[in-house]
Amino acid sequence: MAKIKTVYEDCDILVVGGGMAGTGATFEARHWGRDLKIVCVEKANIDRSGAVAQGLYAINCYMGMQWGENQPEDHVRYARNDLMGIVREDLGYDMARHVDSSVHMFDEWGLPMMRNEKTGRYLREGKWQIMIHGESYKPIVAEAAKKSADKIYNRIMITHLLMDEGKDNRVGGAVGFNMRTGNFHVFRAKAVIVAAGGASHIFKPRAVGEGMGRTWYAPWSNGSAYALPIAVGAKMTQMENRIVLTRFKDGYGPVGAYFLHLKTYTQNANGENYEEKWYDQTKELVGEYIDHTPVPTCLRNHAFIEEVKAGRGPIQMVTTEAFQDPHLEEIGWENFLGMTVGQAVVWASQDIDPKYTNPELTTSEPYVMGSHATCSGAWVSGPEDLSPPEYFWGYNRMLTVDGLFGAGDTVGGSAHKFSSGSFTEGRLAAKAAVKYIEDLKGEEIKVSDKQCEDFKEVIYKPLENYTIGQNEITGGTVSPSYILPIQGLQRLQKIMDEYVGGVGVNYMTNDNLLKRGLELLEILQEDLENIGAEDYHQLMRAWELKHRTLTSQCVAEHTLFREETRWPGYYYRGDHMKLDDENWHCLTVSRRDPETGKFTLEKAPLYHIVDEKEDNESA
Ligand SMILES: Cc1cc2nc3c(=O)[nH]c(=O)nc-3n(C[C@H](O)[C@H](O)[C@H](O)COP(=O)(O)OP(=O)(O)OC[C@H]3O[C@@H](n4cnc5c(N)ncnc54)[C@H](O)[C@@H]3O)c2cc1C
Repeated sequence: MAKIKTVYEDCDILVVGGGMAGTGATFEARHWGRDLKIVCVEKANIDRSGAVAQGLYAINCYMGMQWGENQPEDHVRYARNDLMGIVREDLGYDMARHVDSSVHMFDEWGLPMMRNEKTGRYLREGKWQIMIHGESYKPIVAEAAKKSADKIYNRIMITHLLMDEGKDNRVGGAVGFNMRTGNFHVFRAKAVIVAAGGASHIFKPRAVGEGMGRTWYAPWSNGSAYALPIAVGAKMTQMENRIVLTRFKDGYGPVGAYFLHLKTYTQNANGENYEEKWYDQTKELVGEYIDHTPVPTCLRNHAFIEEVKAGRGPIQMVTTEAFQDPHLEEIGWENFLGMTVGQAVVWASQDIDPKYTNPELTTSEPYVMGSHATCSGAWVSGPEDLSPPEYFWGYNRMLTVDGLFGAGDTVGGSAHKFSSGSFTEGRLAAKAAVKYIEDLKGEEIKVSDKQCEDFKEVIYKPLENYTIGQNEITGGTVSPSYILPIQGLQRLQKIMDEYVGGVGVNYMTNDNLLKRGLELLEILQEDLENIGAEDYHQLMRAWELKHRTLTSQCVAEHTLFREETRWPGYYYRGDHMKLDDENWHCLTVSRRDPETGKFTLEKAPLYHIVDEKEDNESA
């Protein structure tokens, strides 16, 4: 340990993760905090990091208020409808009222926006989406962050949050290590904004073996956004609300532009429209929610899953009609080349030309995130002008730990933010964090060297486990004394798949399975004390796995707590197959006690701040 160098950085605001939310936070922190020291620390390199690393073809959240296209209220209704009635409407409204200004900045900063030739407006893909040539989306927002920060640290994985020793339940910074140099980094900060993305690879993926890593959500999103706050006792919400995506098979290419712009449609193997067949059965489960427009994402998945179970797969996207139009054919391919090149490569490798063959679709393994058609994440304070008392404790987007803020996938309850809304939420969190620091009025944070040294010991232990355990190997690579990160990852994925409702069991779970799953996760946690890391890269893998495992425990606890099937098509509680508005029209909130490691769960009231109106047009 002595040979590991420690690097200290003291700052006012520390942004953990330089993805969409992190770049937004870094940019906005400078706007409000001219004299503050602002540092952003990123696991990869912010020029190409996070879920937008490869680029996007559409900005999925834009109101278009300047043209009277949509109002924030409309977006709240839309998100509420899609999430089967349950979202934090204060957070959603707050994001929606500010998101257009973020998009206008992207435009100013040089992001190529597609325009409707007739109206001159941004070209709509759907009610909420606008189309962009977005290959360079991420470098563009990264530039804004780089110009705003005092310092950006790339290649540092944050493993733990530091706590203030001068005041209970107040954050004091974060620690991590540089996976290239191995240096130990201590960031002491008055406010920390966690913007570390969602979680993939916690459930067994459909693509295993040579296909491993081919997932829908970014494979490097490892749940730090959840594990970091959970570990210090911050409250979480809606962690059971994992998401399953219908996507092109094997490459996970997005279907939005195909449905909305190319007007392609789905059919079963017999060429039939299968969705309508499941109407009565779905109505039995969820009641009138099936009659909503647009049909909630999970319910469309449900019809897909049932149809495949009934033996009428594969489900196909009918592309052969639209692709006869050369313009639509070009858009279809460009859509992938701009954001999911892998899908084009998969089609090429499987001899699929969508002009002549209708490609297969699949439902993905589940992911945990807070910015898409799902809203898992931290329980945060809302804005003071909108939030009821139960949702407000002083600073917008502050978690239940003082000085700890969240944005993007980190924040629970506010679905359908996507890239632009996550960036916007980063801005909102940063503005509040600056105010929080001003209100501290120079009060200092106390973080002792001992707290940091203790973490240093813990963080590098997998290297030591490996070095010692390796000597016990007499042949091959399996040690009796340590497990490798890949072995632990596969074990985690198997537990989550079989017990918590993954693809292997058609997303089905129940009370008994969840309880056993939680026991197995506990045993895995114990074994992870003996994880071995060969080098700094594997040390990152080890910590990614630990974060994934803690996130998974929280997901399983929440899934056990909510005794209903609120989102059929995302997961099913076999022992409570119906949606139960009488008992579960509420938010779920958990807290893990950092001392004991035990979770407690409670219901939180669900407030409908925006009234019902006419149904939303399909998006
Ligand atoms: C396949 C796919 C398609 C999508 N399509 C669209 C679309 O068409 N339009 C749209 O608007 N949105 C789309 N989205 C959604 C959008 O990408 C996300 O909503 C947005 O990126 C979330 O922002 P975030 O900052 O929370 O997470 P991210 O942008 O993923 O950023 C998280 C950052 O944290 C870093 N990080 C993680 N852990 C640590 C750690 N421990 N220490 C330090 N750094 C860490 C990561 O490296 C990353 O840079 C898509 C997402 C995916 C995956």
